Amino acid sequence: MNEYDSDCLGQQLMNYGLTATDNHEDAGLIMINTCTVRAKAQQKAFSLIGRMMTVKKRRPDIILGIMGCIAQQKGIDLLKKFPDVDLILGTREIGRISQILDRIIKGNEKIVATDLSIKSIPRERHDGYFRNRIKSYISIMEGCNNFCSYCIVPYVRGREVSRSSQEIMEEAKSLLSQGIKEITLLGQNVNSYLSAEREEITFPMLLRMLSGLNGLNRIRFTTSHPKDLSDDLINCFKELPVLCPHIHLPFQSGSDRILRMMNRGYSREQYIALITKLRDIRPDFAITSDVMVGFPGESDKDFQMTIDLIRTIEFDNLFSFKYSDRKGTFSEKMDKKVDEHEKSSRLSILQSIQKEITLKRNIKHIGKEEEVLVEGESKKGVLLTGRNETNQIVNFLGDIKLIGSLVKVFIKRAFINSLQGILNKNH
Ligand code: SAM
Ligand code: SF4
Repeated sequence: MNEYDSDCLGQQLMNYGLTATDNHEDAGLIMINTCTVRAKAQQKAFSLIGRMMTVKKRRPDIILGIMGCIAQQKGIDLLKKFPDVDLILGTREIGRISQILDRIIKGNEKIVATDLSIKSIPRERHDGYFRNRIKSYISIMEGCNNFCSYCIVPYVRGREVSRSSQEIMEEAKSLLSQGIKEITLLGQNVNSYLSAEREEITFPMLLRMLSGLNGLNRIRFTTSHPKDLSDDLINCFKELPVLCPHIHLPFQSGSDRILRMMNRGYSREQYIALITKLRDIRPDFAITSDVMVGFPGESDKDFQMTIDLIRTIEFDNLFSFKYSDRKGTFSEKMDKKVDEHEKSSRLSILQSIQKEITLKRNIKHIGKEEEVLVEGESKKGVLLTGRNETNQIVNFLGDIKLIGSLVKVFIKRAFINSLQGILNKNH
């Protein structure tokens, strides 16, 4: 979501007449996009802001701004902490950047723009911004109404608002005309997308509309909430060849007691039933998820239930986090906090089990011929790299002219983070 917001800002800054630089020492404007969903993300953002403050001290003529969830949450307080900052830009105000820059440049004033009560100001696109990319995101909705007890998102991204399907289709067409082949639709809970136009458009309807677009090879989406994953959406995976057989479906905990305290709205059994439905479509359907350890009151027994669920489902991959208190959330006020040492120990047990499972799942790809969307050269520069339909990284030898095309690769080796194969020359 932050990458998407950064790209929206980037396009508007190009329209404003600026060009991008890789080196902050050459920059006249530095915008820091921040995340506050977990304590660690916030610490990283603060340390980057600190480093950029030293640049601003040396070169007071530059404009230094902070955007994203920390900007939204802390607003004017950030200016007290970082007095040299010129601009605090909230999550729904990105579309106003040109007017704001005009005011900063002409009026030499500091600006805090953090209104959350508004629907996002429309963001201008820049045709050509995505020319050298193969894949991109489209945000289809903003905000969230779920109020999971640990989560800051509803407070910093506001209530759920769906964008119109027409706007989304236009954005998709513009991306395709610039050469984009794969689009990932974004939202905190895409399943509850509902746009009230001439007729109500649901998320499965939107997927069907997008799948008809010429030149679009692949669609993915994230994130799906288990409580709202409908049969209609599951059927889209059977119906629409461009929809990749992969879902990111956060489960958070394997203990029903903890799930209730988290206000997640589903049980362990219901979650397992959804996975069964998805794997009935095809056994190699890829399932990835988010999980948290050390939620307040999580006992060793609760943690064991999480491990048990991980072993039962065998996720292709997991994003795993230590619970951290976020200011203003329900769980911040809960007692029986789990100590840091215990959280770290649970996380490392969980991650080592998941590593084994990921490798086991990756090994199952060996011997198959898979379709890969070629994204570029691998990090070491010897091989080409891309992703298969189930979202694993696949490296193979091939001509750089293949970048941007769909090819067939015969999978020969599997590692924890990638697969390696041989290109089928008759792709
Ligand atoms: N909307 C998505 C959903 O419902 O699953 C997830 C959004 S959140 C930005 C991404 C992940 O961060 C969550 O799935 C959760 O695992 C983790 N997360 C959120 N709040 C957290 C907290 N207070 N401490 C640790 N992890 C947290
Ligand atoms: Fe946060 Fe829950 Fe909304 Fe996801 S669904 S963004 S975890 S409140």
